[in-house]
Amino acid sequence: MAHVSLYRRFRPDSFDKMIRQEHVVQVLENQIKTGSVGHAYLFCGPRGTGKTSVARIFARAVNCEKPKNGSPCGKCASCKALAEGSLDVVEIDAASNNGVNEMRDLREKVQYPPVTGKYKVYIIDEVHMLTDSAYNALLKTLEEPPAHAIFILATTEPHKIPATILSRCMRLDFKLIPAEDLEAHLKSILKEIGKPYEDEAVSAIARAGAGSDRDMLSIAETCIAYSDKLTYAAVTAALGTADFNTTAKLVSAMLSADMPTALFVTENLLAEGKAVGVLVRDLLELLRQITVAKTCSNAEKLLALPKDLFAKVKEIATAADGRAVLRATEILSKTENELRFASSPRIALEAAIMRISMPETEYDIDALLVRVKRLEDLLAATPMPLQGFPVLDEPPAPKTAERNGGAEEVPPFSEEPVWDAPEEPLRAEEKPEKPALVGKTESTEEMTAEVAFGKFMRTLRKTSKNGVLFTMCSDLAACYEGKLLVLTTESDTVFRMLSREEPRKTMADTFALIGITEFEVRRASSTKKENADAVSQLKEDFSDYPVEIK
Ligand SMILES: [Zn+2]
Repeated sequence: MAHVSLYRRFRPDSFDKMIRQEHVVQVLENQIKTGSVGHAYLFCGPRGTGKTSVARIFARAVNCEKPKNGSPCGKCASCKALAEGSLDVVEIDAASNNGVNEMRDLREKVQYPPVTGKYKVYIIDEVHMLTDSAYNALLKTLEEPPAHAIFILATTEPHKIPATILSRCMRLDFKLIPAEDLEAHLKSILKEIGKPYEDEAVSAIARAGAGSDRDMLSIAETCIAYSDKLTYAAVTAALGTADFNTTAKLVSAMLSADMPTALFVTENLLAEGKAVGVLVRDLLELLRQITVAKTCSNAEKLLALPKDLFAKVKEIATAADGRAVLRATEILSKTENELRFASSPRIALEAAIMRISMPETEYDIDALLVRVKRLEDLLAATPMPLQGFPVLDEPPAPKTAERNGGAEEVPPFSEEPVWDAPEEPLRAEEKPEKPALVGKTESTEEMTAEVAFGKFMRTLRKTSKNGVLFTMCSDLAACYEGKLLVLTTESDTVFRMLSREEPRKTMADTFALIGITEFEVRRASSTKKENADAVSQLKEDFSDYPVEIK
Protein backbone atom coordinates (compact mmCIF):
# COMPACT_ATOMS: atom_id res chain seq x y z
CA MET A 1 0.00 0.00 0.00
CA ALA A 2 1.25 3.43 -0.89
CA HIS A 3 2.34 5.58 2.02
CA VAL A 4 -0.30 8.10 3.01
CA SER A 5 0.82 10.88 5.33
CA LEU A 6 -0.83 11.09 8.74
CA TYR A 7 -2.16 14.51 7.84
CA ARG A 8 -4.01 13.22 4.78
CA ARG A 9 -5.03 9.98 6.42
CA PHE A 10 -6.61 11.74 9.37
CA ARG A 11 -7.95 14.78 7.56
CA PRO A 12 -11.39 15.61 9.05
CA ASP A 13 -14.34 14.86 6.75
CA SER A 14 -17.03 16.54 8.81
CA PHE A 15 -17.22 19.77 10.78
CA ASP A 16 -17.45 18.01 14.14
CA LYS A 17 -14.05 16.40 13.55
CA MET A 18 -12.33 19.77 13.09
CA ILE A 19 -9.82 20.70 15.79
CA ARG A 20 -10.99 24.04 17.13
CA GLN A 21 -11.94 26.83 14.66
CA GLU A 22 -15.43 26.50 16.16
CA HIS A 23 -16.10 30.19 15.47
CA VAL A 24 -15.68 29.52 11.74
CA VAL A 25 -17.43 26.16 11.71
CA GLN A 26 -20.49 27.53 13.47
CA VAL A 27 -21.03 30.26 10.89
CA LEU A 28 -20.77 27.81 7.98
CA GLU A 29 -22.97 25.16 9.62
CA ASN A 30 -25.68 27.75 10.21
CA GLN A 31 -25.53 28.88 6.59
CA ILE A 32 -25.97 25.27 5.42
CA LYS A 33 -28.84 24.68 7.82
CA THR A 34 -30.65 27.84 6.77
CA GLY A 35 -29.75 27.49 3.09
CA SER A 36 -28.20 30.95 3.02
CA VAL A 37 -24.73 30.27 1.61
CA GLY A 38 -22.75 33.11 0.07
CA HIS A 39 -20.85 33.23 -3.21
CA ALA A 40 -17.42 34.21 -1.99
CA TYR A 41 -15.48 33.43 1.18
CA LEU A 42 -12.00 34.39 2.28
CA PHE A 43 -10.38 31.95 4.72
CA CYS A 44 -7.43 33.63 6.44
CA GLY A 45 -5.01 32.11 8.92
CA PRO A 46 -1.66 30.46 9.55
CA ARG A 47 -0.70 27.30 7.69
CA GLY A 48 -1.96 23.96 8.93
CA THR A 49 -4.91 25.39 10.85
CA GLY A 50 -7.60 23.69 8.71
CA LYS A 51 -8.51 26.20 5.97
CA THR A 52 -8.46 23.66 3.12
CA SER A 53 -10.12 20.96 5.23
CA VAL A 54 -12.99 23.29 6.11
CA ALA A 55 -13.28 24.40 2.47
CA ARG A 56 -13.60 20.79 1.30
CA ILE A 57 -16.16 19.88 3.96
CA PHE A 58 -18.14 22.98 3.08
CA ALA A 59 -17.99 22.16 -0.65
CA ARG A 60 -19.52 18.74 0.03
CA ALA A 61 -22.01 20.05 2.54
CA VAL A 62 -23.51 22.62 0.14
CA ASN A 63 -24.05 19.84 -2.39
CA CYS A 64 -25.26 17.17 0.05
CA GLU A 65 -28.86 16.07 -0.37
CA LYS A 66 -29.40 15.49 3.34
CA PRO A 67 -26.78 17.40 5.35
CA LYS A 68 -26.54 16.26 8.95
CA ASN A 69 -26.36 19.17 11.34
CA GLY A 70 -24.60 21.26 8.67
CA SER A 71 -22.06 18.56 7.72
CA PRO A 72 -22.18 16.33 4.60
CA CYS A 73 -24.00 13.04 5.21
CA GLY A 74 -21.40 10.98 3.35
CA LYS A 75 -24.04 8.61 1.99
CA CYS A 76 -26.03 10.42 -0.68
CA ALA A 77 -25.19 10.30 -4.41
CA SER A 78 -23.60 13.77 -4.33
CA CYS A 79 -21.44 12.98 -1.28
CA LYS A 80 -20.26 9.75 -2.92
CA ALA A 81 -19.53 11.46 -6.24
CA LEU A 82 -17.57 14.22 -4.55
CA ALA A 83 -15.62 11.75 -2.41
CA GLU A 84 -14.31 10.19 -5.61
CA GLY A 85 -13.36 13.54 -7.09
CA SER A 86 -15.75 15.53 -9.23
CA LEU A 87 -15.64 18.39 -11.68
CA ASP A 88 -17.94 20.27 -9.36
CA VAL A 89 -15.23 20.98 -6.79
CA VAL A 90 -12.17 22.58 -8.35
CA GLU A 91 -9.02 23.24 -6.33
CA ILE A 92 -6.56 25.75 -7.71
CA ASP A 93 -3.18 26.35 -6.11
CA ALA A 94 -2.42 30.00 -6.85
CA ALA A 95 1.18 29.47 -5.79
CA SER A 96 1.72 27.38 -8.92
CA ASN A 97 -0.96 29.01 -11.11
CA ASN A 98 -0.35 32.70 -10.70
CA GLY A 99 -0.94 33.39 -14.40
CA VAL A 100 -3.78 35.40 -15.74
CA ASN A 101 -4.68 32.54 -18.13
CA GLU A 102 -5.87 30.27 -15.33
CA MET A 103 -8.19 32.97 -14.03
CA ARG A 104 -9.56 33.67 -17.53
CA ASP A 105 -10.05 29.96 -18.01
CA LEU A 106 -11.87 29.81 -14.69
CA ARG A 107 -14.05 32.73 -15.73
CA GLU A 108 -15.15 30.86 -18.83
CA LYS A 109 -15.69 27.45 -17.24
CA VAL A 110 -17.58 28.79 -14.25
CA GLN A 111 -20.50 29.50 -16.56
CA TYR A 112 -21.21 25.75 -17.11
CA PRO A 113 -23.62 24.36 -14.53
CA PRO A 114 -22.50 21.72 -12.01
CA VAL A 115 -22.51 18.06 -13.09
CA THR A 116 -23.97 16.32 -10.06
CA GLY A 117 -24.82 18.72 -7.24
CA LYS A 118 -26.32 22.16 -6.85
CA TYR A 119 -23.08 24.13 -6.72
CA LYS A 120 -19.71 24.36 -8.39
CA VAL A 121 -17.16 25.21 -5.71
CA TYR A 122 -13.80 26.78 -6.52
CA ILE A 123 -11.17 26.58 -3.81
CA ILE A 124 -8.26 28.91 -4.59
CA ASP A 125 -5.40 28.25 -2.19
CA GLU A 126 -2.61 30.78 -1.49
CA VAL A 127 -4.69 33.39 -3.30
CA HIS A 128 -2.27 36.19 -2.33
CA MET A 129 0.15 34.73 -4.91
CA LEU A 130 -1.99 35.84 -7.87
CA THR A 131 -0.63 38.56 -10.13
CA ASP A 132 -2.45 41.87 -10.59
CA SER A 133 -3.96 40.90 -13.94
CA ALA A 134 -5.01 37.54 -12.50
CA TYR A 135 -6.73 39.45 -9.67
CA ASN A 136 -8.56 41.56 -12.24
CA ALA A 137 -9.79 38.47 -14.07
CA LEU A 138 -10.90 36.93 -10.76
CA LEU A 139 -12.59 40.17 -9.75
CA LYS A 140 -14.71 40.19 -12.91
CA THR A 141 -15.94 36.70 -12.00
CA LEU A 142 -16.64 37.69 -8.41
CA GLU A 143 -18.58 40.77 -9.57
CA GLU A 144 -21.14 38.70 -11.48
CA PRO A 145 -20.97 35.16 -10.19
CA PRO A 146 -23.39 32.61 -11.71
CA ALA A 147 -25.97 31.44 -9.15
CA HIS A 148 -24.37 28.00 -8.98
CA ALA A 149 -20.83 29.19 -8.18
CA ILE A 150 -19.14 29.44 -4.80
CA PHE A 151 -15.59 30.74 -4.37
CA ILE A 152 -13.47 29.95 -1.36
CA LEU A 153 -10.23 31.89 -1.32
CA ALA A 154 -7.64 30.77 1.22
CA THR A 155 -4.59 32.73 2.30
CA THR A 156 -1.96 32.99 4.98
CA GLU A 157 -1.39 36.65 4.08
CA PRO A 158 -4.69 38.55 3.85
CA HIS A 159 -2.93 41.93 3.90
CA LYS A 160 -1.67 41.20 0.38
CA ILE A 161 -5.18 40.81 -1.05
CA PRO A 162 -6.57 43.85 -2.92
CA ALA A 163 -9.44 45.67 -1.22
CA THR A 164 -11.64 45.16 -4.30
CA ILE A 165 -11.47 41.39 -3.72
CA LEU A 166 -11.74 41.63 0.08
CA SER A 167 -14.92 43.68 -0.14
CA ARG A 168 -16.69 40.93 -2.11
CA CYS A 169 -15.84 38.11 0.28
CA MET A 170 -17.10 36.97 3.63
CA ARG A 171 -13.93 36.85 5.67
CA LEU A 172 -13.38 34.07 8.23
CA ASP A 173 -10.21 33.99 10.34
CA PHE A 174 -8.63 30.72 11.40
CA LYS A 175 -6.58 30.72 14.58
CA LEU A 176 -3.48 28.85 15.73
CA ILE A 177 -4.46 25.66 17.54
CA PRO A 178 -3.60 25.56 21.28
CA ALA A 179 -1.00 22.95 22.24
CA GLU A 180 -3.43 20.98 24.42
CA ASP A 181 -5.80 20.45 21.48
CA LEU A 182 -2.91 19.38 19.27
CA GLU A 183 -1.84 16.98 22.01
CA ALA A 184 -5.30 15.47 22.29
CA HIS A 185 -5.49 15.06 18.52
CA LEU A 186 -2.09 13.37 18.33
CA LYS A 187 -2.95 11.04 21.21
CA SER A 188 -6.16 9.93 19.51
CA ILE A 189 -4.25 9.20 16.31
CA LEU A 190 -1.51 7.29 18.15
CA LYS A 191 -4.15 5.17 19.87
CA GLU A 192 -5.78 4.49 16.54
CA ILE A 193 -2.59 3.34 14.86
CA GLY A 194 -1.54 1.41 17.98
CA LYS A 195 1.68 3.28 18.73
CA PRO A 196 2.74 3.37 22.39
CA TYR A 197 3.89 6.78 23.62
CA GLU A 198 5.17 8.79 26.57
CA ASP A 199 3.05 11.83 27.49
CA GLU A 200 6.14 14.06 27.50
CA ALA A 201 6.94 12.96 23.96
CA VAL A 202 3.48 13.95 22.74
CA SER A 203 3.75 17.32 24.53
CA ALA A 204 7.10 17.98 22.91
CA ILE A 205 5.76 17.21 19.42
CA ALA A 206 2.67 19.36 20.00
CA ARG A 207 4.87 22.27 21.09
CA ALA A 208 7.07 21.82 18.04
CA GLY A 209 3.94 21.99 15.87
CA ALA A 210 3.53 25.59 17.07
CA GLY A 211 -0.21 25.80 16.51
CA SER A 212 -0.30 23.98 13.19
CA ASP A 213 -1.91 20.56 12.98
CA ARG A 214 -0.21 19.78 9.69
CA ASP A 215 3.24 20.71 10.99
CA MET A 216 2.67 18.71 14.16
CA LEU A 217 1.61 15.60 12.27
CA SER A 218 4.53 15.77 9.89
CA ILE A 219 6.90 16.06 12.87
CA ALA A 220 5.07 13.16 14.54
CA GLU A 221 5.58 11.09 11.43
CA THR A 222 9.33 11.58 11.57
CA CYS A 223 9.45 10.74 15.27
CA ILE A 224 7.26 7.65 14.89
CA ALA A 225 9.65 6.22 12.32
CA TYR A 226 12.49 6.76 14.78
CA SER A 227 11.71 4.05 17.32
CA ASP A 228 9.09 1.47 18.37
CA LYS A 229 7.84 3.52 21.25
CA LEU A 230 7.41 7.27 21.00
CA THR A 231 9.74 8.41 23.79
CA TYR A 232 10.83 11.89 24.79
CA ALA A 233 14.42 10.95 24.02
CA ALA A 234 13.46 9.75 20.54
CA VAL A 235 11.55 12.98 19.92
CA THR A 236 14.43 15.24 20.92
CA ALA A 237 16.78 13.13 18.81
CA ALA A 238 14.48 13.17 15.80
CA LEU A 239 13.80 16.90 16.09
CA GLY A 240 17.48 17.62 16.27
CA THR A 241 16.91 19.51 19.51
CA ALA A 242 20.19 19.82 21.32
CA ASP A 243 20.91 17.68 24.27
CA PHE A 244 18.93 19.44 26.96
CA ASN A 245 21.77 19.60 29.46
CA THR A 246 24.10 21.28 26.99
CA THR A 247 21.52 23.91 26.13
CA ALA A 248 20.86 24.40 29.84
CA LYS A 249 24.57 24.91 30.43
CA LEU A 250 24.66 27.55 27.71
CA VAL A 251 21.64 29.43 29.06
CA SER A 252 22.98 29.22 32.57
CA ALA A 253 26.34 30.65 31.47
CA MET A 254 24.67 33.49 29.54
CA LEU A 255 22.43 34.45 32.45
CA SER A 256 25.34 34.49 34.89
CA ALA A 257 27.48 36.60 32.52
CA ASP A 258 30.02 33.85 31.99
CA MET A 259 30.86 34.66 28.38
CA PRO A 260 33.82 32.31 27.88
CA THR A 261 31.74 29.28 28.87
CA ALA A 262 28.78 30.51 26.81
CA LEU A 263 30.93 30.87 23.69
CA PHE A 264 32.69 27.60 24.33
CA VAL A 265 29.44 25.63 24.61
CA THR A 266 28.07 27.39 21.52
CA GLU A 267 31.20 26.47 19.59
CA ASN A 268 30.77 22.81 20.62
CA LEU A 269 27.11 22.68 19.69
CA LEU A 270 27.75 24.20 16.28
CA ALA A 271 30.74 21.93 15.72
CA GLU A 272 28.44 18.96 16.32
CA GLY A 273 26.51 20.09 13.28
CA LYS A 274 23.68 21.92 14.99
CA ALA A 275 22.03 24.54 12.77
CA VAL A 276 22.19 28.10 14.10
CA GLY A 277 18.44 28.60 13.64
CA VAL A 278 17.59 25.42 15.55
CA LEU A 279 19.91 26.40 18.38
CA VAL A 280 18.30 29.84 18.66
CA ARG A 281 14.85 28.22 18.83
CA ASP A 282 16.04 25.76 21.49
CA LEU A 283 17.45 28.63 23.55
CA LEU A 284 14.21 30.61 23.25
CA GLU A 285 12.19 27.56 24.24
CA LEU A 286 14.33 27.00 27.32
CA LEU A 287 14.11 30.68 28.27
CA ARG A 288 10.34 30.42 27.95
CA GLN A 289 10.34 27.41 30.26
CA ILE A 290 12.52 29.31 32.73
CA THR A 291 10.07 32.23 32.66
CA VAL A 292 7.17 29.87 33.31
CA ALA A 293 9.06 28.12 36.12
CA LYS A 294 9.86 31.50 37.64
CA THR A 295 6.38 32.97 37.49
CA CYS A 296 3.76 30.20 37.52
CA SER A 297 2.89 28.15 40.57
CA ASN A 298 1.64 25.26 38.42
CA ALA A 299 4.73 25.38 36.20
CA GLU A 300 5.41 21.65 36.44
CA LYS A 301 2.02 20.82 34.98
CA LEU A 302 2.17 23.59 32.36
CA LEU A 303 5.59 22.57 31.08
CA ALA A 304 4.95 18.79 31.08
CA LEU A 305 8.66 18.03 31.16
CA PRO A 306 10.21 14.83 32.49
CA LYS A 307 10.98 15.24 36.21
CA ASP A 308 14.75 15.57 35.99
CA LEU A 309 14.52 18.15 33.21
CA PHE A 310 11.96 20.16 35.13
CA ALA A 311 14.26 20.13 38.17
CA LYS A 312 17.05 21.58 36.03
CA VAL A 313 14.80 24.30 34.59
CA LYS A 314 13.63 25.18 38.09
CA GLU A 315 17.22 25.36 39.30
CA ILE A 316 18.22 27.83 36.56
CA ALA A 317 15.02 29.82 37.12
CA THR A 318 15.70 30.17 40.84
CA ALA A 319 19.26 31.35 40.27
CA ALA A 320 18.44 33.76 37.44
CA ASP A 321 17.37 37.38 37.64
CA GLY A 322 13.98 37.80 35.94
CA ARG A 323 15.12 40.87 34.09
CA ALA A 324 18.15 39.05 32.70
CA VAL A 325 15.85 36.27 31.43
CA LEU A 326 13.61 38.82 29.75
CA ARG A 327 16.55 40.65 28.22
CA ALA A 328 18.03 37.39 26.88
CA THR A 329 14.67 36.46 25.37
CA GLU A 330 14.36 39.84 23.67
CA ILE A 331 17.86 39.75 22.22
CA LEU A 332 17.45 36.19 20.91
CA SER A 333 13.98 36.84 19.42
CA LYS A 334 15.45 39.75 17.54
CA THR A 335 18.32 37.56 16.39
CA GLU A 336 15.89 34.89 15.22
CA ASN A 337 14.24 37.45 12.94
CA GLU A 338 17.56 38.78 11.70
CA LEU A 339 18.94 35.32 10.86
CA ARG A 340 16.97 35.22 7.62
CA PHE A 341 18.90 38.21 6.32
CA ALA A 342 22.24 37.55 7.97
CA SER A 343 25.11 36.74 5.65
CA SER A 344 26.73 34.87 8.53
CA PRO A 345 24.09 33.50 10.93
CA ARG A 346 26.85 32.18 13.13
CA ILE A 347 28.31 35.62 13.80
CA ALA A 348 24.81 36.99 14.47
CA LEU A 349 24.28 34.25 17.06
CA GLU A 350 27.68 34.73 18.69
CA ALA A 351 27.15 38.48 18.87
CA ALA A 352 23.78 37.92 20.56
CA ILE A 353 25.31 35.53 23.07
CA MET A 354 28.04 38.03 23.86
CA ARG A 355 25.52 40.85 24.34
CA ILE A 356 23.51 38.70 26.72
CA SER A 357 26.59 37.55 28.61
CA MET A 358 27.94 41.07 28.98
CA PRO A 359 25.24 43.49 30.09
CA GLU A 360 28.13 45.83 30.98
CA THR A 361 28.64 46.52 27.29
CA GLU A 362 25.30 48.22 27.01
CA TYR A 363 23.69 51.28 28.42
CA ASP A 364 20.05 50.55 27.85
CA ILE A 365 17.95 50.50 30.97
CA ASP A 366 17.49 46.70 31.07
CA ALA A 367 21.20 46.06 30.81
CA LEU A 368 21.86 48.56 33.59
CA LEU A 369 19.20 47.03 35.82
CA VAL A 370 20.73 43.58 35.30
CA ARG A 371 24.09 45.02 36.32
CA VAL A 372 22.67 46.75 39.38
CA LYS A 373 21.00 43.50 40.46
CA ARG A 374 24.26 41.60 40.09
CA LEU A 375 26.11 44.23 42.11
CA GLU A 376 23.47 44.07 44.82
CA ASP A 377 23.72 40.29 44.94
CA LEU A 378 27.46 40.53 45.07
CA LEU A 379 27.38 43.05 47.91
CA ALA A 380 24.93 40.93 49.85
CA ALA A 381 27.15 37.91 49.40
CA THR A 382 30.39 39.67 50.30
CA PRO A 383 31.43 39.40 53.92
CA MET A 384 33.91 42.31 53.79
CA PRO A 385 33.98 45.69 52.05
CA LEU A 386 34.74 45.36 48.38
CA GLN A 387 38.25 46.17 47.44
CA GLY A 388 38.61 48.10 44.27
CA PHE A 389 35.13 49.52 44.38
CA PRO A 390 35.17 52.95 42.77
CA VAL A 391 34.89 55.97 45.00
CA LEU A 392 32.32 58.53 43.99
CA ASP A 393 34.63 61.13 42.47
CA GLU A 394 36.15 58.59 40.12
CA PRO A 395 34.83 58.54 36.59
CA PRO A 396 32.64 55.46 36.32
CA ALA A 397 34.35 52.69 34.46
CA PRO A 398 32.15 49.75 33.50
CA LYS A 399 34.09 47.18 35.44
CA THR A 400 34.83 47.07 39.17
CA ALA A 401 32.81 44.55 41.11
CA GLU A 402 31.87 42.41 38.14
CA ARG A 403 35.40 42.34 37.01
CA ASN A 404 36.38 41.07 40.40
CA GLY A 405 33.48 38.71 40.50
CA GLY A 406 34.34 36.39 37.70
CA ALA A 407 34.05 37.96 34.26
CA GLU A 408 37.79 38.35 34.05
CA GLU A 409 38.35 36.91 30.64
CA VAL A 410 37.00 39.72 28.56
CA PRO A 411 37.31 43.41 29.32
CA PRO A 412 34.12 45.41 28.97
CA PHE A 413 33.15 46.98 25.71
CA SER A 414 33.33 50.51 26.99
CA GLU A 415 33.21 53.76 25.09
CA GLU A 416 36.94 54.10 25.45
CA PRO A 417 39.26 51.13 25.34
CA VAL A 418 39.76 49.84 28.84
CA TRP A 419 43.48 50.55 28.77
CA ASP A 420 42.69 54.26 28.82
CA ALA A 421 40.35 53.99 31.77
CA PRO A 422 41.72 54.81 35.20
CA GLU A 423 43.00 51.84 37.11
CA GLU A 424 40.95 50.60 39.96
CA PRO A 425 41.70 52.49 43.16
CA LEU A 426 43.75 50.69 45.85
CA ARG A 427 44.94 48.09 43.41
CA ALA A 428 46.22 50.43 40.79
CA GLU A 429 49.78 50.69 41.97
CA GLU A 430 50.78 47.15 42.53
CA LYS A 431 48.42 45.39 40.13
CA PRO A 432 47.58 46.95 36.80
CA GLU A 433 44.47 45.03 35.92
CA LYS A 434 45.20 43.37 32.63
CA PRO A 435 48.79 42.27 33.15
CA ALA A 436 48.04 40.92 36.60
CA LEU A 437 45.29 38.71 35.29
CA VAL A 438 47.22 37.20 32.46
CA GLY A 439 50.21 36.74 34.63
CA LYS A 440 52.76 39.00 33.03
CA THR A 441 55.62 40.90 34.55
CA GLU A 442 55.80 44.62 34.12
CA SER A 443 58.43 46.32 32.05
CA THR A 444 58.71 49.50 30.07
CA GLU A 445 58.65 47.47 26.92
CA GLU A 446 55.37 45.86 27.78
CA MET A 447 53.79 49.17 28.69
CA THR A 448 54.67 50.22 25.17
CA ALA A 449 52.95 47.13 23.87
CA GLU A 450 49.86 48.08 25.86
CA VAL A 451 49.93 51.57 24.40
CA ALA A 452 50.34 50.22 20.88
CA PHE A 453 47.52 47.79 21.42
CA GLY A 454 45.31 50.54 22.88
CA LYS A 455 45.90 52.52 19.67
CA PHE A 456 45.00 49.45 17.67
CA MET A 457 41.71 49.01 19.56
CA ARG A 458 40.75 52.67 19.07
CA THR A 459 41.51 52.43 15.36
CA LEU A 460 39.61 49.16 15.05
CA ARG A 461 36.65 50.71 16.77
CA LYS A 462 36.61 53.54 14.25
CA THR A 463 37.31 51.56 11.08
CA SER A 464 35.48 48.28 11.57
CA LYS A 465 31.78 47.74 12.11
CA ASN A 466 32.48 44.22 13.33
CA GLY A 467 31.49 44.30 17.00
CA VAL A 468 32.28 40.62 17.42
CA LEU A 469 35.84 41.13 16.24
CA PHE A 470 36.22 44.10 18.59
CA THR A 471 34.99 42.05 21.54
CA MET A 472 37.28 39.19 20.62
CA CYS A 473 40.25 41.53 20.40
CA SER A 474 39.36 43.00 23.79
CA ASP A 475 40.30 39.62 25.20
CA LEU A 476 43.90 39.88 24.01
CA ALA A 477 46.89 40.85 26.10
CA ALA A 478 49.83 42.46 24.35
CA CYS A 479 53.59 42.23 24.81
CA TYR A 480 56.66 42.62 22.65
CA GLU A 481 59.08 39.89 21.70
CA GLY A 482 61.78 41.91 20.04
CA LYS A 483 59.88 43.72 17.29
CA LEU A 484 57.09 41.18 17.17
CA LEU A 485 53.89 42.28 18.91
CA VAL A 486 52.57 39.13 20.58
CA LEU A 487 48.87 39.01 21.43
CA THR A 488 47.76 36.26 23.75
CA THR A 489 44.36 34.95 24.74
CA GLU A 490 43.34 32.33 27.25
CA SER A 491 40.17 31.44 25.38
CA ASP A 492 40.22 28.69 22.78
CA THR A 493 37.18 30.19 21.11
CA VAL A 494 38.76 33.61 20.78
CA PHE A 495 41.98 32.08 19.50
CA ARG A 496 40.21 29.96 16.90
CA MET A 497 38.02 32.79 15.72
CA LEU A 498 40.92 35.19 15.39
CA SER A 499 42.87 32.59 13.44
CA ARG A 500 40.37 32.71 10.63
CA GLU A 501 41.34 34.49 7.47
CA GLU A 502 38.87 37.35 7.49
CA PRO A 503 39.36 38.65 11.05
CA ARG A 504 43.10 38.18 10.62
CA LYS A 505 43.09 40.38 7.56
CA THR A 506 41.05 43.10 9.30
CA MET A 507 43.52 43.02 12.18
CA ALA A 508 46.51 43.26 9.82
CA ASP A 509 44.92 46.19 7.98
CA THR A 510 44.22 47.97 11.25
CA PHE A 511 47.73 47.41 12.58
CA ALA A 512 49.11 48.69 9.28
CA LEU A 513 47.20 51.95 9.83
CA ILE A 514 49.15 52.57 13.05
CA GLY A 515 52.44 51.44 11.52
CA ILE A 516 52.71 47.95 13.01
CA THR A 517 53.45 45.16 10.57
CA GLU A 518 54.62 42.30 12.75
CA PHE A 519 52.11 40.75 15.09
CA GLU A 520 50.99 37.31 16.10
CA VAL A 521 48.01 35.89 18.01
CA ARG A 522 48.80 33.11 20.44
CA ARG A 523 46.97 30.84 22.76
CA ALA A 524 48.26 31.50 26.30
CA SER A 525 49.98 28.27 27.25
CA SER A 526 50.50 28.36 30.98
CA THR A 527 49.53 30.49 33.91
CA LYS A 528 52.20 31.81 36.15
CA LYS A 529 52.33 31.32 39.84
CA GLU A 530 51.63 34.99 40.46
CA ASN A 531 48.40 34.59 38.56
CA ALA A 532 47.44 31.51 40.54
CA ASP A 533 47.98 33.51 43.72
CA ALA A 534 45.74 36.28 42.47
CA VAL A 535 43.07 33.73 41.67
CA SER A 536 43.14 32.10 45.07
CA GLN A 537 43.03 35.54 46.68
CA LEU A 538 39.97 36.40 44.61
CA LYS A 539 38.30 33.15 45.54
CA GLU A 540 38.95 33.83 49.18
CA ASP A 541 37.60 37.37 48.96
CA PHE A 542 34.46 36.17 47.22
CA SER A 543 33.90 32.82 48.83
CA ASP A 544 30.13 33.00 48.32
CA TYR A 545 30.43 33.94 44.70
CA PRO A 546 31.52 31.54 41.96
CA VAL A 547 34.91 32.72 40.77
CA GLU A 548 36.18 30.86 37.77
CA ILE A 549 39.24 31.90 35.84
CA LYS A 550 40.50 29.83 33.00
ZN1 LIG B 1 -24.74 13.78 1.44
